[in-house]
This record gives sequence, structure tokens and C-alpha cells, in this order.
Amino acid sequence: MRKGVILLAGGEGKRLGFKKQYLQLKGKPLYAHSLEKVIDLFEEVILVLPEEDVEKVKVPGKVKKVCGGKERQDSVFEGLLSAEADIVVIHDCARPFASKELFLKVSDLGQFEGKICAIPVRDTLKQVSEGIVIKTVDRAGLWHSQTPQAFIRKVLLECHFRSRAEGFYATDDAMLLERYGYKVGVVMGEITNIKITYPEDLELARLLEILL
Ligand code: C5P
Repeated sequence: MRKGVILLAGGEGKRLGFKKQYLQLKGKPLYAHSLEKVIDLFEEVILVLPEEDVEKVKVPGKVKKVCGGKERQDSVFEGLLSAEADIVVIHDCARPFASKELFLKVSDLGQFEGKICAIPVRDTLKQVSEGIVIKTVDRAGLWHSQTPQAFIRKVLLECHFRSRAEGFYATDDAMLLERYGYKVGVVMGEITNIKITYPEDLELARLLEILL
């Protein structure tokens, strides 16, 4: 089975006001951290970038550059249309600390059509409205989903076509498989596999880069 990876760096930085995939961490842009980890792990490497940046971002010859779409799901779809491998790993470049071991562990699909990495919720969960606690939510069985996530390419592509037809947008790719009745396995994620979403996450990332 051929394995490939789609790295997502196609965001327009609407929330932060700038494109976080180019933020410097350890002297390299954020997306380059994920690229370096996977380049020798997978036969096929696809990097999804904002359309206006595809020409100017320089990558090693093995890497295929693809124009992203409006939402994350559209960017995954564009990457999938260019992919040929049997198993495809999807990863957000906003998670620069995912280890090589995690990529390998998740891409070993076994009996599943898809596999995610996730970590059990450790905090007490509260439902809050307008600054007031409504109730405590039972955290038993609740996990935080991360990327990388791996899938049989044809299954993920089918799920993307179906959800596009329905106008359905999910927050991760596994959610699409769940929607159409496929089995998604879970491997233990990494607590250091943080997602850079807000400026304060970048400060945490800078501290983590010293430790890791
Ligand atoms: O915006 P958010 O942090 O949820 O994005 C998660 C990942 O998806 C990031 O790596 C971002 O670059 C990517 N993305 C994308 N295309 C979009 C939106 C987000 O590739 N249109």
C-alpha cells in the first residue's frame, strides 16, 4: 500500500489577521517543520498553500504544491484530487510538534478505514452561558482530536464528494467518515502536539521549541 501525506497550509489567517503558516519558529516557517518531519516518511508529499503563494514558496522536488480552497475542508479536497497513494495522511501545519512516530502510528490503519490521534479530556468540562455555569458535562469517553489523521484515500474522497453535495462542513476529516458510517480508530496523541490558533499559542510554541 502506497502512503502519502497532505500538509495543510492553505489558511488565509482570517482569525489572526496574518498567515500563521509563515510565522518563524526555530528560524523556519511553521509549515516547514511538518514538511521536514514527513519528507522521508511518505512516498507522496502534497503541500496545500494559499493560491497567491503557490509560486513563491520553494519546496524540495519531491513535494507537490496545490492551491487551497476557501475553508479547510475545501483545501483537503483540493489536496485529495492531486493524491494518488492508497493511504493518505492529513495534517495541519498549525501543529508543528507532531512527532515522526505519531505520523507512522496513525498511518498504520489495520482494520480501520480511518485513524486519528487524540488525547483524553483531562479538565472538568463546564457548559457556560453569558459568564454563568449551566452545568458540568461528563467528560468520560471524551477525547481531544488532533492531526495527523490517516484514511484510505478512496474512502475519504468519497466522503468529501458526498459532503460537498450536501453542503456539509466538518471540523476534521474523521467527522466525514463518522457521518457516512465508516469505522475510525484512535491512537494516543501527544500533549505537545499543540495547535497554533491564537497569538498566545505561539508564545507557548516558542517555549516548547526550547524543550523539544
Ligand atoms: O484555521 P485553522 O487553524 O482551523 O486551520 C487548520 C489548518 O488548516 C491550518 O494548517 C491551515 O493552514 C489549514 N487551512 C487550509 N485552508 C483553509 C483554511 C485552513 O489549508 N482554507
